[in-house]
Amino acid sequence: MKIIDLRSDTVTKPTEEMRQAMYRAEVGDVVLNDDPTVLELEEMGAALFGKEACLFTASGTMSNQIAVFALTQRADQILVHKDAHIFNLERSGLAQISGVQCRLVRTEQGRFDLDDLKQNLVSDSIQSARTSLICMENTFNLNDGLCIPKSHIDDVAEIAKQHGLQVYMDGARILNAAISLGEQAKDLVENCDVVSLCISKGLACPVGSILCGSREFIERARFIRQMLGGGWRQGGIVAAAGVVALNNIQRLQDDHDRAKALKEGLKKISSQLELNAVETNILTVDTAALGISSDALVEALDRQGLRVKKIGESKVRMITHIDFQDEDIQPVLTAWENVLEALGD
Ligand SMILES: *Cc1c(COP(=O)(O)O)cnc(C)c1O
Repeated sequence: MKIIDLRSDTVTKPTEEMRQAMYRAEVGDVVLNDDPTVLELEEMGAALFGKEACLFTASGTMSNQIAVFALTQRADQILVHKDAHIFNLERSGLAQISGVQCRLVRTEQGRFDLDDLKQNLVSDSIQSARTSLICMENTFNLNDGLCIPKSHIDDVAEIAKQHGLQVYMDGARILNAAISLGEQAKDLVENCDVVSLCISKGLACPVGSILCGSREFIERARFIRQMLGGGWRQGGIVAAAGVVALNNIQRLQDDHDRAKALKEGLKKISSQLELNAVETNILTVDTAALGISSDALVEALDRQGLRVKKIGESKVRMITHIDFQDEDIQPVLTAWENVLEALGD
C-alpha cells in the first residue's frame, strides 16, 4: 500500500535534482563566509525579497529568534499575534533568548485589528516598557494558510513607521501567499524591515531557512546565528538544495490546485464536513457534525494509507506538497469515503 502523508509540507523529501546538486555542491566555510553555494543562495534570497542582504539559517525557528534578538533590546515589548508561531510554538524562545515581553494583539483572519494595534503601542514611560517591534506572519496560521494582502501589511508598516517601530515578517510560507495573491514576494514585503522564508516546507529542501533585510541587520544576524550554534561549516551541501528550490518556486501553484481539488472532492463525499477556505496548500476538515472524533479519524485514515494531522477534537489538517501528485488525489478521496462510511453511524 502506498502511504500518502499529508500531515505537513515539512515531510517532503529532497528531489532527485536537489540530491544531485547537493552531491556536486562546491563548498567552503560558512563561518569564514566563503562557502560559494551558501553565498549563491543568499544572493538569490536577497533578490527574491528585494532586500540588501540575506543569511542562511538552520530553520524557521532559528530565523525568527535571530530576527527578534537583532531587532530588539532586552526587556523590550513586542507586538505579536496571539496565534503566531513565534509566540506559541518556539519553546518560549522570545523570553529565553531575547528576553522580550509579548503584547498580544487581537486579529481577525490573521489581520491585525488596526485600532487595537494602535492602542497597544504604549509609549515608553517610567512604568511601561519600550515597544520596538511588530511581528507579522504570512501565510498566517499553520492550520489555515491564509494570505495576508499587501494592503494590510502596508497599513501595519505605516503605523510602525509613525511610531518608530520595525516590522518583522515571519514568512515561513510567504511564497505560497505571494503565488496565491498573484504578487511578487518582494512587493509583498516591500515595507517590512526583515523577512524570513522556510525552504524545508513546500520548497522541499531537507533543512533550512533564509532571513533577509538590510546589510547592517544581516551583519548583526550573522553574529547571533554564530552564538546560537548555527555557524555551519560546509553549509553549501544543504544550501545547494535551496538554490534548486528557489529556481522553481512557481511549483507551489500545483500544491494549491491540488488542495482545492481535494476540497471539492470532499464536498461531494459529504455535505456535513466543515472545510476551511483553502487559500494556499492547507485544507482543514471538521467532522463534528458527523460525530466523529479526530482520534478515531486519524487512526482509520492511517489504516487506509493516509496520514493526516489532528488539530482539534474533531478537526484534522492536510497539507499538499511536492510528493503529492495529481494521481494521489483520488486515493485520498477514496480513503475518506471508506472511513466516513465506516465511522459515520
Ligand atoms: C514552520 C514555521 C516556522 C518554523 O519553521 P521550522 O523550520 O520548522 O523551525 C515558523 N513560522 C511559521 C509561520 C511556520 O509555519
